Amino acid sequence: MSNFDYDLFVIGAGSGGVRASRIASQLGARVAVAEDRYLGGTCVNVGCVPKKLFVYGSHFSEDFEAAAGFGWQLAPADFHWPTLRDRKTREIQRLNGIYGNILSSAGVELIEGRAQITGPNTVRVADSEYSSERILIATGGWPFVPDFAGAEHVITSNEAFYLQEFPRRVIVVGGGYIAVEFAGIFNGLGADSHLYYRGPLFLRGFDDSVRKVVADEMRKKGVNLHFDTSVARIVKQPSGELEVTTTDGQVSLVDAVMYATGRRAKTEGLGLENTAVRMRDNGAIIVDDNYRTDEASIFAIGDVIGRIELTPVALAEGMALAHYLYGDKATAAVDYDNIPTAVFSQPNIATVGLTEAQAREKYSQLQVYQSSFTHMKHTLSGLDEKTFMKLLVDAATGKVVGCHMVGADAGEIIQGIGIAIKAGATKEDFDNTIGIHPTAAEEFVTMREPVVTA
Ligand code: FAD
Ligand code: NDP
Repeated sequence: MSNFDYDLFVIGAGSGGVRASRIASQLGARVAVAEDRYLGGTCVNVGCVPKKLFVYGSHFSEDFEAAAGFGWQLAPADFHWPTLRDRKTREIQRLNGIYGNILSSAGVELIEGRAQITGPNTVRVADSEYSSERILIATGGWPFVPDFAGAEHVITSNEAFYLQEFPRRVIVVGGGYIAVEFAGIFNGLGADSHLYYRGPLFLRGFDDSVRKVVADEMRKKGVNLHFDTSVARIVKQPSGELEVTTTDGQVSLVDAVMYATGRRAKTEGLGLENTAVRMRDNGAIIVDDNYRTDEASIFAIGDVIGRIELTPVALAEGMALAHYLYGDKATAAVDYDNIPTAVFSQPNIATVGLTEAQAREKYSQLQVYQSSFTHMKHTLSGLDEKTFMKLLVDAATGKVVGCHMVGADAGEIIQGIGIAIKAGATKEDFDNTIGIHPTAAEEFVTMREPVVTA
């Protein structure tokens, strides 16, 4: 046993920090975790969980519309924002309690307060200084808002979860996960929802067909998409409304402008200057394959290292690091290939593996299978929504190297397909799998003819 107060001092009780602390403690390490804001971190408090609850909440408007096609007569629906907001908050408080229990039952000491690293083996929280053989930085990220005239009037996703009043007219700026998800949430809950993205088509990094299909579907549902356009300035009116001038010369009055223009590593005030830890230009902490920083006793995982900013990735990194440091694993390296991911846009996007553009660079002969169809539900719902599926196959080996879907429950469907792709499934394996009928998902095992082979 070391002469330090702890074997491992974790900063941040979010997805990665809680997982690393719990496993390290269970493997016999003496572990403390410092948290200054909320147990469970971004995902539980201002991320995945409240976002998904809001997506469920906002989808009802369309469900009510669809119900009429099945014979249901409903009185005009009325949405009460404080109910959704406050019931969501109560659920999060329940989860905060569960996270506290997870830590205490694993024997991890929770230290409430803001942690500052004072040296390679020391951390200060409030008036106390603690020593630890190793320190793990798992402080996550924070919304980034570019500087422009009127930037002080905008909100980010952090505030969107707690708005006093529901905005009737809202502008969302950005073209990534958060912007697309929130433009859909606001629209579904009844706002006049506008999304402004600086480039020609949002969701850069996703498969091009997916990006186009999602743009079409969102427009059909009433989201106003403005591409190649940015906000130039915002002036707050005496009424509290925001006058927004965009780079295409349009001026509009709205109730809220939400920026979703990426997140940056949260390292401010962390005391990294007291260590040899280095950061990239974007502020992300530099680590090696085993999550060790340039200071040998200090490690970092999760959003703060800026690799793949997803909860399951932070969890995997935390788990792998704990087993490497206190278990029998020779390496902490996480396999970042074929990580499935979903955007909870309306309709959902989910994807695993390569985009068509990436696959074309890697494989000389690529077969593209794709299908666009009307979900059985919409034959009666009267809603005009298409489900889109795409499989990319390396012709030389028959391996499925990319799988993409836009449609209801895409995340639920692609999670299973992710296992197949991780296991190296070929198109023949897909073909040999008997479908579940009638589902939308069965289309993935019945696409017979490639639309392109080149
Ligand atoms: P975090 O969860 O951010 O935890 C960091 C913790 O450290 C925080 O609790 C913070 O308060 C604490 N902290 C920071 N500095 C200090 C300090 N100096 N002292 C003490 N404590 C400190 N991912 C998905 O996989 N699926 C989704 O659907 C999804 N939706 C999202 C929606 C939104 C709106 C956002 C913002 C993110 C979403 N994400 C989603 C991303 C996901 O939330 C993050 O990838 C994940 O939370 C990262 O975990 P982490 O442990 O690295 O950091
Ligand atoms: P993203 O990185 O996904 O998207 C950022 C968007 O903002 C991009 O469209 C980018 O444009 C644009 N942008 C960046 N800088 C500027 C600028 N200066 N001016 C105008 N636009 C700008 O970040 P998000 O904030 O949406 O989300 C952060 C991360 O959180 C995601 O990447 C994801 O990892 C995670 N997340 C996951 C979710 C899920 O799993 N469902 C849901 C929500 C978040 P460009 O493409 O041109 O660079």
